[in-house]
Amino acid sequence: MEKIVAQSALDQKTYEICLEGGRIGAIQVSSLEDKPDFIFGPGFFDIQVNGYGGVDYNLLQSDYLNLGQISSALEKCGVTRHLPTIITNSKEAIGVLFGQLALLLESAPVYRESIPGFHLEGPFISPEDGPRGAHSKEFICAPNWEWFQFWQEKAGGMIKLITLSPEWEGSLRFIEKCVDAGITVSIGHTNAAHVQIKDAVKAGARLCTHLGNGAHGVLPRHPNYLWSQLAEKALHASIIADGFHLPKEVIQVFHQVKKEKILLVSDSVALAGMPAGDYDAPVGGKVTLSEKGKLHLQGNPNLLAGSAMNLLQGVNFLLRNKLTSIQEAWEMASVRPSQLLFPNSQAWNSLEKCDLLLVKQEENSELVPFKIFKNWKEVFPKRPSKS
Ligand SMILES: [Zn+2]
Repeated sequence: MEKIVAQSALDQKTYEICLEGGRIGAIQVSSLEDKPDFIFGPGFFDIQVNGYGGVDYNLLQSDYLNLGQISSALEKCGVTRHLPTIITNSKEAIGVLFGQLALLLESAPVYRESIPGFHLEGPFISPEDGPRGAHSKEFICAPNWEWFQFWQEKAGGMIKLITLSPEWEGSLRFIEKCVDAGITVSIGHTNAAHVQIKDAVKAGARLCTHLGNGAHGVLPRHPNYLWSQLAEKALHASIIADGFHLPKEVIQVFHQVKKEKILLVSDSVALAGMPAGDYDAPVGGKVTLSEKGKLHLQGNPNLLAGSAMNLLQGVNFLLRNKLTSIQEAWEMASVRPSQLLFPNSQAWNSLEKCDLLLVKQEENSELVPFKIFKNWKEVFPKRPSKS
């Protein structure tokens, strides 16, 4: 039996983790007074993943099992759960993309454990240049409940989060229907007026998707949709903390305003997790991934072509720049998204049931995975087989 002494990232207490044959046997509070070498907490949960490690949820696959590579690649980085994210496309294409995700989940329990739902970002967003970001204008449209039901059926009922803009007529009724169906509604890629945002919150919208991105380059000083979303106390906000999408001072302001309602997403695209270099991307065309993880159009470092980081790198960005405490950064990447999307699930909020991530903290404050457990079974590092 091996015993690891580690500090909880959440309650800061010291625990003894007893390991037996690659499994956790028990976790108990320790009376040891020395500061432990390790930190642990729930595995990270990324509610916005378009792709990773060269695989793209938004592309039709020759074999849908290819999509499973994303779960394994993210797991090694401590992201034990995520929501595959399908973005604006034609009605038929969105149906097909959700269909292949549903097949993936049917194929093995391991995928159902790492993928508790899907995120639909679009097509009911703003058609305006700026707010729409890289979403293709031709497919952007007003909310359509019949279409949504078609997609939800293809998805096997697994769409748990939708990002839309309440600037369309009919948005409020649509939001209410989503909320009744248990789907979390997020405001994003929006050009909505103040009153439309207020009404969306009354109808049940609870999140802002990657606040501060998917927005105009230049905005009227006030009123504008950033102030409106910051002012709404009921709205949580997700942010991309990769060092490129938001300046540090903007993260500081969002953090101070949203407090315990701010959380992290990666919004990673397929090239995330790939070696630096030049690539041909399906969205964006010729792009460059820099050594530092910035993904931009070739020859123009100012035009971002998506996010190329995982959630662990987001947490490390916050810690390295002293933007939050470790407890807060860890909550932003794990319990906060869990509690927002699955408030009734005990599974991710108790030590007995959640995935666990055990890390070492480097001198520059960054976290490096040491061991990762799913259902208390060690999944990282992979053990050599006994044959
Ligand atoms: Zn987006």
